[in-house]
Amino acid sequence: MTERTLSGTGVTPRAGVGTAVWYRPEAGLELPEPPAEGLDAAAERERFETARGEAREELERERDLTADRVGDEEAAVFDAHVQFLNDPQIESGVEEAVDDGLTAEHAVQRAFAGPIEQFEGMEGRMAERADDLRDVRDRLLRVLTGGERVNLAELPAGTVVLAERLTPSDTAQLDPERIAGFATVTGGRTSHAAIFARALALPAVVGVGDDLDSIEEGAAVVIDGDAGEVVVDPSDERREAAAADDAVEVRPNPVTTADGTTVEVAANVGRPAELGPAADRGADGIGLFRTEFLFLDRDAPPSEEEQYEAYAEALSTFPDGRVVVRTLDVGGDKPVPYLDLPESENPFLSERGIRRSLGPDAALFETQLRALLRAAGSEGGDGLAVMLPLVATIEEVEEAREVLESVAADLDEEGATYARPEFGVMIETPAATFMAPELASRVDFLSVGTNDLAQYVMAADRGDERVADLHDPLHPPVLRAIARTVEAADGEECWVGMCGEMAGDPDLTELLVGLGLDELSMSAVTVPDVKANVETTDREAAEALAARALAAGTKREVDQLLTDTA
Ligand code: PEP
Ligand code: MG
Repeated sequence: MTERTLSGTGVTPRAGVGTAVWYRPEAGLELPEPPAEGLDAAAERERFETARGEAREELERERDLTADRVGDEEAAVFDAHVQFLNDPQIESGVEEAVDDGLTAEHAVQRAFAGPIEQFEGMEGRMAERADDLRDVRDRLLRVLTGGERVNLAELPAGTVVLAERLTPSDTAQLDPERIAGFATVTGGRTSHAAIFARALALPAVVGVGDDLDSIEEGAAVVIDGDAGEVVVDPSDERREAAAADDAVEVRPNPVTTADGTTVEVAANVGRPAELGPAADRGADGIGLFRTEFLFLDRDAPPSEEEQYEAYAEALSTFPDGRVVVRTLDVGGDKPVPYLDLPESENPFLSERGIRRSLGPDAALFETQLRALLRAAGSEGGDGLAVMLPLVATIEEVEEAREVLESVAADLDEEGATYARPEFGVMIETPAATFMAPELASRVDFLSVGTNDLAQYVMAADRGDERVADLHDPLHPPVLRAIARTVEAADGEECWVGMCGEMAGDPDLTELLVGLGLDELSMSAVTVPDVKANVETTDREAAEALAARALAAGTKREVDQLLTDTA
């Protein structure tokens, strides 16, 4: 059989090979034609109630399984579905439709249609609610029509899942141990399924289009998340290449350059569920724990205890490594409804990061620091480090330090067990790069956030495709800002890391080592490649490369240099 290649958007730079299983939750949902007359409304209501009870039980089972396998936060989506199931508006919609003479199935369809349409017309996260509602509707219809569906949680090992789309509750059930990858007809890089795939290092291609339907159940399929390709009936070479990628060589211990300099290679995580995959890929520790994800998708902030648990879990996953927890970085492109963030023409230049923690979110900042100091004082807590986002002035650092000291004094008075963690700042504003010497003399570490640094140095919105070429850290001014930061820490007892996307690009490892970074932190998926590249890097050659890159006047010259040395 000759191989056939379909293209889509690759969302994880990994490949996997396996057997196709179609997941079609809508299959079997052809609704029976209602009898022309004689429908018993009371019996239809009863059928709806029974189906609702069954759907609720299913959801509760799936929630427990997901909590076990992935984490409580991912399991929360099932609670949201139970709420939709119990929603009084949906319930009265179904009752009215049944009273109008519809079967329970048609009544369910009618009752969900309005709310789905409403959410579809909204932006961002609210639009995703439409997916959740469709999910709940289809579950009810399946139960009512007696339809079966593939149980995503119990697929055989080596399965490649193919689907029109995967909803949040679908992805939460996928067992990364058994899934060789997935491909969907719809979806883009930032779709829920794509984010999930990256967090768990699953090979995935989304947005393949209707061609995906041509793949038959049981076919051999390679999912190449790097090239964005789905290969049907792959050749032996293709299959072996994908399998080899799957069997990536993990280096569980810290690595050194060829001449013996240790470079810490850590992972960026947002949710506790990402900790395990980060350790599995050989990360030395966590270089950036984005805590805002603990605060999103909920109605109120997490309690001190809840945060303490999350930080303690990170520490116990990396008992020998460092865990850098960044304090809340909301504002900009990270909205949190219950925090009532002000409207701003320029949210990236307004109140975000440390500015909010020292302003309107002061109480949250204190709670977070309490949880962090307690976690630092717990058994195995000495690897903890606290990092401030979006620092632009020395005053911010001093003020934050004062809050930390007052929290320590409170804990002392309460007789609580606590310790002072390492204390550092992100370098992601031009102001911070200019003040790097003063910052370095006041903190234990600096970590360069190139996603924001490139945005502010180049005046190019990080999320705007039209200026994507400008938002590139290989532009000489960004490289010089990084070099200035590293130099500033020289002679101080202050290490310098990088946790922006740039750190995870294996093609840039030599340049970054040459610039003098002590630590690189990235999505778990690229940890093995970056570690491998650190090992083959010779520091003197890397420093020479960095010096030439810093002398370059254009990004084109930097690109050329990198191509020449590749
Ligand atoms: C950065 O700005 O580079 C960074 C790591 O932080 P975030 O992407 O969360 O803003
Ligand atoms: Mg940032």
